[in-house]
Amino acid sequence: MFIPYGKQSISNEDIKAVIDVLQSDFLTQGPAVPKFERAVCEYVSAGYGIATNSATSALHIACMSLDLGSDDVIWTSPITFVASANCGLYCGAGVDFVDIDPLSFNICPISLKEKFEKAAKTNSLPKILIVVHMAGQSARMEEIGKLAQQFGVSVIEDASHAIGGKYREEPVGCCKWSDITIFSFHPVKIITTAEGGMALTNSPDIAMKMELLRSHGVTRQPNLMHSSNPDPWYYEQIALGYNYRMTDLQAALGNSQLCRVDEFVELRTEAAAIYQRDLMDLPLILPGTDRYTESSWHLYIIQIDPSRTDISRGEAFRLLRDKGIGVNVHYIPVYKQPYYRANGFKDYELPASENFYKYCISIPLFPEIIGKDQSKVIGALREVFVQ
Ligand SMILES: *Cc1c(COP(=O)(O)O)cnc(C)c1O
Repeated sequence: MFIPYGKQSISNEDIKAVIDVLQSDFLTQGPAVPKFERAVCEYVSAGYGIATNSATSALHIACMSLDLGSDDVIWTSPITFVASANCGLYCGAGVDFVDIDPLSFNICPISLKEKFEKAAKTNSLPKILIVVHMAGQSARMEEIGKLAQQFGVSVIEDASHAIGGKYREEPVGCCKWSDITIFSFHPVKIITTAEGGMALTNSPDIAMKMELLRSHGVTRQPNLMHSSNPDPWYYEQIALGYNYRMTDLQAALGNSQLCRVDEFVELRTEAAAIYQRDLMDLPLILPGTDRYTESSWHLYIIQIDPSRTDISRGEAFRLLRDKGIGVNVHYIPVYKQPYYRANGFKDYELPASENFYKYCISIPLFPEIIGKDQSKVIGALREVFVQ
């Protein structure tokens, strides 16, 4: 049996919640979506939530609502899924990357400060910084947020990995140090709606813009329309938006899953602690935890320690896959992708990101792994790394 690196946990209540919507009047644009938005807002202490059909579309309308355009640039971490950078390209903006901190795999505040100072001198500051909470552990948002404020840069948190996590005792998603936070509800993430995402913000203006852009730029809200005395059938398109809506089927699943988010994070945390204990003596660098954070443990990323073993990442990866362990690599630095290399990143390299990419392997982690599956993963790692 193949053990995947991540997978969803679906209960009978989840199934019933979806069936209930199938038997109701609304499959989409019904009551389940606003209910899910309110529930997530309440869970993370944010003012407004805009549910979307993916985190990718949430990132896109987040950038648009901050007026990102073709004269602008966004910065993000290279150690992320391509969507964190692509959202800038969708808006015609340029993209650049900030190197990571080798312990947390998140944007390094020191590298960021240096890069901001340099960019300020050449008048090339980004419009938006997209901070990724890698593997579920929040980046150092206070330092990063203060720097961004100082240089007049907007901040989006790509918290696709991190619902259920905390930073300085506050829930990731509260947007204390950012303009907008994005969650993903893809099945490998912490909670799922199959496909789906959400953008959280405390700004009524940004929320209004994102809501419009999610649904064609069309509105029936009297205060937004040009016409002062509209007929009852009347609506207006006042911006160029998309159809990025989440369905009620998905939102009902999300509502049901959200009831278990704390349980999921507890189980992931427990599984991570078991790995930490049972892999300690292997020639590996185990993931560090920042004392200001409580990770949601989306991923458990080990790095091979080349000073203690001759086994390469490629060799270990193949041996583990042969044993039925669904190891993965998160992530190839985005600037290495052929699309980015062909668009200005030909010889681009950031040292900490390169080093991380050379040695990292994600090993399976999901709520139901504890027990037989996790023992099998640990046994396979011991066979590979203990000679
Ligand atoms: C999964 C993921 C996304 C994209 O999420 P979708 O919901 O699949 O669009 C974006 N950023 C990061 C960091 C992710 O892990």
